[in-house]
Amino acid sequence: MNISDWQRDVHETAREHGWWDRSRSTGEVLMLMVTELAEAMEAYRIGNPPSEKIPRFTQIEEELADCLIRMLDFAAAEGLDLEGALAAKAAYNASRPYRHGDKLA
Ligand SMILES: [Mg+2]
Repeated sequence: MNISDWQRDVHETAREHGWWDRSRSTGEVLMLMVTELAEAMEAYRIGNPPSEKIPRFTQIEEELADCLIRMLDFAAAEGLDLEGALAAKAAYNASRPYRHGDKLA
């Protein structure tokens, strides 16, 4: 599947499971992405054990997947072209100078 397919697929699952039965603010959805990153950080703090839900993977992998799912779901809900933006931004980044000039991070 390409990213657009994943976008459509995860949004359909989210809708089927009732996550879009009420309107959601953009701020709420964006902060839910942050909570997944916080869960990844917590997994890192405890040594990144195997996920209990998907045992083939670590907890960091699971939480990053959760974050990506939330991004894809939001992009579909808003009609955003995440696949196009990813390609455009990756190409832009590749064109930038070493460490983007003099950036520290
Ligand atoms: Mg999670």
